[in-house]
Amino acid sequence: MSFVTRFAPSPTGYLHRGHAYSALTAYKAAREADGCFLLRIEDIDVTRSRPEYEAAILEDLAWLGLSWERPVRRQSEHLDDYHAAIETLRSRGLVYRCFKTRKEIDIGRAPHEPAVPYVGAPLPPAEEAERLARGEAFAWRLSLAAARQTLGGFETLTFEEEGAGPNGETGLIQARPETAGDIVLARKDVGVAYHLAVVRDDALQGVTHVIRGHDLFEAAHIQRLLQALLDLPTPIYHHHGLLVGPDGKRYAKRDRAQTLRELRAAGVRPEALRKELGFT
Ligand code: GLU
Repeated sequence: MSFVTRFAPSPTGYLHRGHAYSALTAYKAAREADGCFLLRIEDIDVTRSRPEYEAAILEDLAWLGLSWERPVRRQSEHLDDYHAAIETLRSRGLVYRCFKTRKEIDIGRAPHEPAVPYVGAPLPPAEEAERLARGEAFAWRLSLAAARQTLGGFETLTFEEEGAGPNGETGLIQARPETAGDIVLARKDVGVAYHLAVVRDDALQGVTHVIRGHDLFEAAHIQRLLQALLDLPTPIYHHHGLLVGPDGKRYAKRDRAQTLRELRAAGVRPEALRKELGFT
């Protein structure tokens, strides 16, 4: 299949207009390219994901007139795959155990200051063994230094942006994974990090075009690095603008944006919503 795209919501709340816009954008692109549209449930954050939200996602998207390939991939069922990918990185010396807590990392940071990306290094083996023996919690972090060495620099890491980033970035983009620091790939409470699962699944599902909101543009920089380290293909990216409400603010779950459920309950027809969002 020469065009495969996906909508990949996290079932941590009900869908709102912003999600509908994103899903319709991907769906329309797949239809126009005579390609394939996938739905992927990104429920690796077990503390926030809920089955009722997942059920609502399927129902709301079907109401909106979308259809997708089955079976739907649910990330929580594939944790072994993600751990295998981390193991691959570990065997190549690309990840290390970090015992620092967020609080320790943030020491000295005033509340109004942005978090500084963390860059660390593995502990000396004896100290690490001691901490492990004491049962101290740790996170697996991706080492930028080791990654840089393995790849001989990040200059070759580029991706094609067919849409635009939040500052109009478009065309061939030079990835800057270093801006995120040594990202966490896994830890106890969050078994596996979002970036790793996304990169692994996009490759496994043969996704050729990642179509999503430009709030995830920065994620593409990190994901591009993971693709290189895991020998996975790089899809074409299309980041779209975010839908704003009448107040000029973007729709977001946390702002209690009106959900698709509420619109449905209020008698809004799917055709009317599609039209409002610019789709026929
Ligand atoms: N699951 C992510 C979210 O709901 C989207 C991931 C992606 O499209 O790459 O924000």
